[in-house]
Amino acid sequence: MNAYDPQAIELHRSSFVFDGHCDTLGEALAPPPQGRDLLERSDKGHLDLPRMREGGINAQIFACFPGAERLNACPTSAALRRLEVFYDLLRRAPDQLTLVKTADDLAALTPDGPIGGILSLEGVEALAGSMSLLHTFHRLGVRNIGLTWNPRNAAADGVDVGSDFGLTPFGRELVAACNDLGIMVDVSHLNPAGVADVLEVSSKPIIASHSNAKALWDHRRNLSDEQIRGIAAKGGVIGATFVSHFLNPNFREASLEDLLDHIDHLVQVAGIDHVGIGSDFDGCVPPPELDSGEKYPAITQGLLRRGYAPEDIRKILGENFRRVFLEVLP
Ligand SMILES: [Zn+2]
Repeated sequence: MNAYDPQAIELHRSSFVFDGHCDTLGEALAPPPQGRDLLERSDKGHLDLPRMREGGINAQIFACFPGAERLNACPTSAALRRLEVFYDLLRRAPDQLTLVKTADDLAALTPDGPIGGILSLEGVEALAGSMSLLHTFHRLGVRNIGLTWNPRNAAADGVDVGSDFGLTPFGRELVAACNDLGIMVDVSHLNPAGVADVLEVSSKPIIASHSNAKALWDHRRNLSDEQIRGIAAKGGVIGATFVSHFLNPNFREASLEDLLDHIDHLVQVAGIDHVGIGSDFDGCVPPPELDSGEKYPAITQGLLRRGYAPEDIRKILGENFRRVFLEVLP
């Protein structure tokens, strides 16, 4: 068992914890034993509803990450199948999970009530270049859109492309439509020119749901200080992420302390009101101190030991993400 300081546990339990990113829906595409039933506590993967509860998570962004399926199947159906996993959980456990579609839904979440799920697309391949499908996914409850994963798509180039191209005309139209519909625009995975364009085009705050600081480790998925300042100036939030490969040049040595170093840097550059947490659970290899949902209080304990004030820790754990979603959601 993990033994955390009583003060850390008390602060963590009384905080609103909002996790900006997980790929957990993909874990339940197949029935057990190939897949997992997310209502059951498992020792496989990182998250399920019991472990979210143990970790004190109150709101969670669930990404539809098509993964390898994008190479050999229809990305639209890959996203729809993940949304169906979420809706199946809602049907079976309405007392444990609720869908957040509006600011009122988010504001209504309570520490002991159901966990609020926010549905997200990671990359817009599922839209097949169609604004009409954006409206369909909006009707299905999607309220966060990561414009790209690592490759190029109809909206923009991801960080793997290595181009200087920003948003395409479709990408610009998409950002404007997301602003109008109350869908958060998420720039994690987007190339630098794309991030600059989103900062210019978006009329609303934006987020980087799971990204760390390039100043500490010059990885293509990490954000420059200029990008961090730009997102903060727009009122947005950067979710520090547990991905070992983004935490430490030697990913095998990545630790909780590395995550805290990235949070320190993000706070110094962006300000305390613009930093959150986006675990990337079930989408990454996290450090051992953070390799399962119930270990979330380790962050609270680490921040306390580094001298953060309790009210500032609450902002990082979830109040900042909550604020920006209350502002953007319809
Ligand atoms: Zn990702």
